[in-house]
Amino acid sequence: MEGIDSNILIYAFDESSRFHKVALNFVEEKIKTTILGIAEFSLLEFYSVLTDGRKIGMPLQPSTACAAIRDFYESQSFAVLQCSQACLQMAIEEAHGYSVKRNDIFDFLIASTFKENGITNIYTLNTKDFKKFDFVQAINPFLDCSRSTDTIARTSHRGVGPSGPEADHSFIPYGKQSINEQDVASVCSVLRAAFITQGPKVPEFEKSVANKVGTKHAVAVNSATSALHLACKALGLGPGDILWTSPITFVASANCALHCGANVDFVDIDPRTYNMCPQALEEKLRHARQSGRLPKIVVPVHMCGQPCDMKAIHALSREYGFSIIEDASHAIGGYYKNEPVGCCRYSNITVFSFHPVKIITTGEGGMAVTNTHELAEKIALLRNHGITRNPDLMRQKPDGPWYYEQIDLGFNYRMTDIQAALGLSQLSRLDEFVSRRSELATRYDRLLADLPLTVPWQHPDSDSAWHLYVVRLNLEKMNLTRRQVFEYLRKKDIGVIVHYIPVHTHPYYQAMGFKWGMFPEAEKYYQEAITLPLFPAMTEKEQDRVVDALKRILPTEHTERHRI
Ligand SMILES: *Cc1c(COP(=O)(O)O)cnc(C)c1O
Repeated sequence: MEGIDSNILIYAFDESSRFHKVALNFVEEKIKTTILGIAEFSLLEFYSVLTDGRKIGMPLQPSTACAAIRDFYESQSFAVLQCSQACLQMAIEEAHGYSVKRNDIFDFLIASTFKENGITNIYTLNTKDFKKFDFVQAINPFLDCSRSTDTIARTSHRGVGPSGPEADHSFIPYGKQSINEQDVASVCSVLRAAFITQGPKVPEFEKSVANKVGTKHAVAVNSATSALHLACKALGLGPGDILWTSPITFVASANCALHCGANVDFVDIDPRTYNMCPQALEEKLRHARQSGRLPKIVVPVHMCGQPCDMKAIHALSREYGFSIIEDASHAIGGYYKNEPVGCCRYSNITVFSFHPVKIITTGEGGMAVTNTHELAEKIALLRNHGITRNPDLMRQKPDGPWYYEQIDLGFNYRMTDIQAALGLSQLSRLDEFVSRRSELATRYDRLLADLPLTVPWQHPDSDSAWHLYVVRLNLEKMNLTRRQVFEYLRKKDIGVIVHYIPVHTHPYYQAMGFKWGMFPEAEKYYQEAITLPLFPAMTEKEQDRVVDALKRILPTEHTERHRI
């Protein structure tokens, strides 16, 4: 059980508040995993604020507020906590020890009520009020620790916050994790618990991700790279086999085949989505059938968070007999044909990454999800040295309760409980992250519309998770190179980057016989692409700075061409 202060409940009820949505979302997400304790004293404040016409925009009728309070008493998700007579007595006596002033006695009583009920974590917007009492930990769940000046924290303190010249010239990274106090509390509670690895948090995180994306099984590992490797192993990839993926991806999507002793080849991209092109795939499959070099596994990559044309790729897998691993490192929280990415309707296994620049993070981490029990079992076995404690899987008779057995050659690819606790807390804000990313992407689309560049085209079947916002420069329309544009933006402290150098052009792959010119759409894309900053905590002011810089360097129909 965890405690909640009246102010968050008040925002959750006050529809006129700008924090209404975020507070309501917080409460709804919290009660999925825990019971929220409310001190009975807090309900007085809850009632008096919500019915007071001067304090909130849309005051509740007294009868509505009473009904809400009755619901708290009757709900399974909330526990209204009374302060016992003894606690009351003691609290008043102890209050002297904490030198509690008259106005703070309510905070003290609320904190004491939580303490008496064994609660140490209190969610509140007024962490200051509880800081005085060392027996509870006050957490502002909306405070974004990864920014020094957080929008919600700033505006909740009467709208004044640091702004000024230095805020305007800080570096804007291309991506950034959003860590809040709830994440910190979640990790800290594991550090204080019995297990920091292989405890209850990893299976809890696996179950939550499986529920969220709609698959039967999920296996957490220490990176998406590990998840790709084990997914290939579980599908039986080995020497003599071939894996195909997109050349526009992070190298890990291809390296997983090499780690299995198999070969790699690539399928060119669709120039609109930057995803593997199903027509190119079909044509390559036809040739491969003739030469007897069909792939065992195809790895479509949901580039930038936009899902691939999975239905077409799946239909080809039936015809040509290959397995599919979706590399959804960019795409947790996205949807394809109104189903979550990761539900594996069109694939055998889907892989997610929880690296800090991705949609949600566990520091380092990854996960493989599947609807096939045997695949999940195999991946789980291989992440832990190939060792099992499951008697059903053992080859020999256990000679004691200590007995375990190595039945395959595996790895140490385990995720820790510390990481899983962070992942669980992050997962509760997944929808919030994706909708903020999508909002910023739409705003980029609008603000960049008149510039000589191509904004990300979206297929009607897909709802992107918006990991990346990549623009393609229309270089024929300008007297500039991509490098000049890139360097200008960097000089303006805008953290642009390029995703990705086509995998087949890296020296390691060239040494295997790949050459420039083999995948022309991917290579043309690479010459023109620039990734602009996009992350949930990005402000519109920061976004305006990116747009202004682009407007300054790129020629427009109406303005004179700027010289560098
Ligand atoms: C980030 C990424 C990976 C690797 O993820 P890690 O968790 O860092 O191992 C693999 N594929 C793609 C497409 C990625 O973006």
